[in-house]
Amino acid sequence: MSQREAEQELDALASSGLLRRLRRLDSPQGRSVKLDGQSAVLNFSSNDYLGLAHDPELIAIFQEYTARYGTGSGASRLVCGTMSAHLELEDAMAALKHTQAALTFTSGFAAATGTIPALCKKDDILILDKLCHASLIDGARLSGATLRIFPHNDLDRLEQHLDWVARKRGVDSRVLVVTESVFSMDGDTAPLAEICALKESYDAMLLVDEAHAFGVLGPSGRGLAAALGLENRIDIQMGTFSKALGLSGGYIAGSRPLIDLLINRARSFIYTTAPGPALAATIRDALDILTGTRGDALRHSLARHRDTIIPGTPSAIIPVLLGENETALQASDALLKAGFLVPAIRYPTVPRGSARLRITLSAAHQDTDVAALKTALSQIITDFASAPASISLS
Ligand SMILES: *Cc1c(COP(=O)(O)O)cnc(C)c1O
Repeated sequence: MSQREAEQELDALASSGLLRRLRRLDSPQGRSVKLDGQSAVLNFSSNDYLGLAHDPELIAIFQEYTARYGTGSGASRLVCGTMSAHLELEDAMAALKHTQAALTFTSGFAAATGTIPALCKKDDILILDKLCHASLIDGARLSGATLRIFPHNDLDRLEQHLDWVARKRGVDSRVLVVTESVFSMDGDTAPLAEICALKESYDAMLLVDEAHAFGVLGPSGRGLAAALGLENRIDIQMGTFSKALGLSGGYIAGSRPLIDLLINRARSFIYTTAPGPALAATIRDALDILTGTRGDALRHSLARHRDTIIPGTPSAIIPVLLGENETALQASDALLKAGFLVPAIRYPTVPRGSARLRITLSAAHQDTDVAALKTALSQIITDFASAPASISLS
């Protein structure tokens, strides 16, 4: 692509309200942040749900492990990069997820794009919820398997696909259903018990991405599958350490043979340098914070904030649907001027015509921050939402 062609594409993006720009943060993640050298604004935009991304306890642990293990891991895991810290983290994850084994990746994105193609090939069938994250979609495309998409959380349509597959599938072809437990841009949850029952009756496998539920929902923050008692019925549990845990990296939890197969086949695991050992060891200790009394206290604060905005809201993500790209951008700008960082989310992250504000709450927020946001939001909805407003603030 020439420079001229790149400029033309950028102009086209700008004229449809879809141009994206990086904004510089001059402070660590936290309750409030400094953007582009401006004065601090309250941060309702990150996935740091428990406020652990700049936590003094974790910082001290990370420093200690860096001194003990060093900064780099030297090579890919299969070459000479598997250090005790990685194995201890994976044992702890397997115990937490009630599975035989677990495997960690450099990111959740890498977990998805490595795992799906390792499990499904050309003659297999993948059935995805329409709102699945880009990493799951890219993993599905990379696999070369036949793709079927069902409308968001539509069990009837999922069953129709499974039924179609049952009639056409070859003797050896595999069927994998892919969904999330908490959806990243809508904050709603999947009917996991019903999906488990369906995949079992059609002899399919199930992958559930818990990126936004891990650390937030379920007993000790173990996720929605744990909350519903479904951990041993989900073949492949996926998630990330980069959201509620405040660190970075992705995981897959499942049976020992499944994990051994990923070690042999997942290209995003094999052909990349292992995450730093100090990071792995810090994640291991962060799991104790997550599942301990401190984690419970943080989830308690987060639940209080969620109920302040909308009582009974299912996750820490609250979307305010506005429709047009420009409307969402203007609403986000107006909130920024009022001191709140709330991002506008547009196509292709969400379907066309469903641009929105995406509010994310954190245990790091104070009660007064959330009350102030709620007041500001009422004004935003009056000014920008075409009736009827997509959320009603109680
Ligand atoms: C963020 C996210 C990922 C990717 O995880 P990273 O660790 O950030 O790469 C995967 N799936 C979902 C649903 C996500 O929201």
